[in-house]
Amino acid sequence: MAYDVVVLGGGTGGYATALRAAQLGKRVALVERDDRLGGTCLLRGCIPTKALLRSAEVLDTVGRSAEWGIEASGTADRESMLSFQATIVERLVTGLTHLVKARKIDVFHSSGRLVPGPAIDLGDMILEASDVVLASGSRPKMLPGMNTSERILTSDEALALPWLPSSVVVIGAGAIGLEFASFYRSMGAEVTVLEALPRIAPLEDEEVSRTLARSLKKRGIATHASASVLSAVETDEQVEITFATVKGQQSVSAQMCLVAVGRGPVSDGMGYEECGIEMDRGTVKVDGALRTSVKKVWAVGDVASTPLQFAHVAFAEGMSVAERIAGMEVPEIDYAGVAKVTFCSPEVASVGLTEQQARDDGFEVQVAKFQFQGLGKAQILGEGGLAKFVADGPTGRILGVHLIGPHATDLISEAMLMTNWEAVAGDVARYIHPHPTLSEALGEAALALAGRPLHG
Ligand code: NAD
Repeated sequence: MAYDVVVLGGGTGGYATALRAAQLGKRVALVERDDRLGGTCLLRGCIPTKALLRSAEVLDTVGRSAEWGIEASGTADRESMLSFQATIVERLVTGLTHLVKARKIDVFHSSGRLVPGPAIDLGDMILEASDVVLASGSRPKMLPGMNTSERILTSDEALALPWLPSSVVVIGAGAIGLEFASFYRSMGAEVTVLEALPRIAPLEDEEVSRTLARSLKKRGIATHASASVLSAVETDEQVEITFATVKGQQSVSAQMCLVAVGRGPVSDGMGYEECGIEMDRGTVKVDGALRTSVKKVWAVGDVASTPLQFAHVAFAEGMSVAERIAGMEVPEIDYAGVAKVTFCSPEVASVGLTEQQARDDGFEVQVAKFQFQGLGKAQILGEGGLAKFVADGPTGRILGVHLIGPHATDLISEAMLMTNWEAVAGDVARYIHPHPTLSEALGEAALALAGRPLHG
């Protein structure tokens, strides 16, 4: 069968490509080996974990309800939590499936392999295409010498685990590790987080990492940075993790160990190399326009060698490839301008340069900070936080914004416009933020940056 576009992989990158290409009048096929569309984000990542974290937030709020004059108490019901998670996922998968059908995209639930043409070989059928888009995604990485088991899990297994552990060791303090650590702590577990790099949330501004470590400590989560995992020994009941830090060697036993040390590409045995596609440690090498080394073959999402593995990046990559295939002029994605979000409690979000990066880039850095505690809305919510702006002193241009606190992951979008539109503090400070809202933290930090702090 012949199509204009065949997309291999029905996750965020793949389905965004397919939807946009169909919208632009292309005849599109979408190949997905899972029996449901949605990929990691919808089935095993962003959506189910955020559903779990909502359950955690509710339990945390119930536990503190007396602060708001409500007498209530609650316990976690894992089965109902899993069913809430499944309902949300199912609803979104159904919506996506209808949308794909409405755009007249042919879906093939089958394992596809790239073959010269370009085309996708489904085993019993070949889908020929003017353009092929590789969107085969990623899977959790395991530490060398460790295998998944009943007690050593990656996020894939942890999401489906029918029981709640009373103690957990989390290896890796990136987004996945921190989100799961936060969830298990809310469920009452003893949680220890081990991070190989010198600080947790290592990609964030140093001050945010420190603030987060303090907040997690206050919640009863132990974090160890610069930690090297030496061994994992399982017994019937426990797993014992031995690790070394500057303080020496120690061991911690827990009912479960979650390994969250990054995600690697899904590209093995899919014909990419055989077709002459240049690869980089399993990822598909692409140029700024997301073209691979083979004509008419593109790659998007986690399998592409672009710098960020985020669903929001995969959407943007998919849409831009579809538009290029349709002959539109599309600017390259500016990955440095993409916001990062971590949904642990407290939430962390950032965009642009950290203070250190701005200094390293030679800017005459000016920093302004605003503590959420100064806001009526934060007091009402009973949560603290920090908004930190990094600017170029002489021009006032906002280079980076770093947030930690309630709804930081939503609040960051305003900051994303500031940094990407190269806004200057004086201009931003002129705009009035609605009161009482958490967005005032950004307004107040901008006022401080412009030399007119009100409450800070
Ligand atoms: P990550 O790369 O963000 O974090 C993994 C962490 O593990 C790193 O800090 C790394 O230094 C650490 N690590 C590696 N080896 C280690 C070892 N031996 N011992 C201790 N620590 C070790 O990866 P992730 O958290 O697994 O997430 C995978 C991808 O998915 C990332 O790109 C992430 O941004 C993305 N993701 C995003 C979100 C979100 O946007 N909220 C949520 C989940 C995942």
